[in-house]
Amino acid sequence: MTFDEMGIKDDLLRGIYEYGFEKPSAIQQRAVVPILHQRDVIAQAQSGTGKTSMIALAVCQMVETSSREVQALILSPTRELAAQTEKVILAIGDHMNIQAHACIGGKSVGEDIRKLEHGVQVVSGTPGRVCDMIKRRTLRTRAIKLLILDESDEMLSRGFKDQIYDVYRYLPPELQVVLISATLPNEILEMTGKFMTDPVRILV
Ligand code: AMP
Repeated sequence: MTFDEMGIKDDLLRGIYEYGFEKPSAIQQRAVVPILHQRDVIAQAQSGTGKTSMIALAVCQMVETSSREVQALILSPTRELAAQTEKVILAIGDHMNIQAHACIGGKSVGEDIRKLEHGVQVVSGTPGRVCDMIKRRTLRTRAIKLLILDESDEMLSRGFKDQIYDVYRYLPPELQVVLISATLPNEILEMTGKFMTDPVRILV
């Protein structure tokens, strides 16, 4: 399958090609279409497979840029990964006027508040800071339709389990969930059981 055959918006396709991609990677081949069809997806994949661009693609395709409410939330285990994901979203979404914010520990809370109050459609963050912003009511969750849990096994091994469950409790019930993990230990399967409905499973 080519990017052209995935039902991707024209301005997003342009961004993907300008970013230098010609053909979808294996994970993109298998995961993008079910995600765009609003299915919950469990993708067992390592970094280096093109998972970050897969996330960016899914997010850019579903966001309504006419609204300034947060519609997609991505949780990652590290500040670097959360910032990288934001960067790829802004790069491939270059023609779409997408507002994204990396909500990560170690950066100023004031900056988070300013960006979030100004209005963004996408938040890419670490569980601790995102949870904090939700509890302060700076990050409004009512319009969130897509939750992406990236490197989920790594988030659990860094002790973010409680914060992930906390964040989930604030999200609307009609939520699409995409979970990416290199391994699927029991704690991850417990999460998929709690958060997901009839997920598509992909192993790359
Ligand atoms: P990731 O696993 O998302 O960190 O991606 C690993 C590397 O593969 C990054 O340098 C991406 O820019 C690159 N990449 C991802 N998807 C594609 C693609 N469809 N075509 C070419 N390179 C890609």
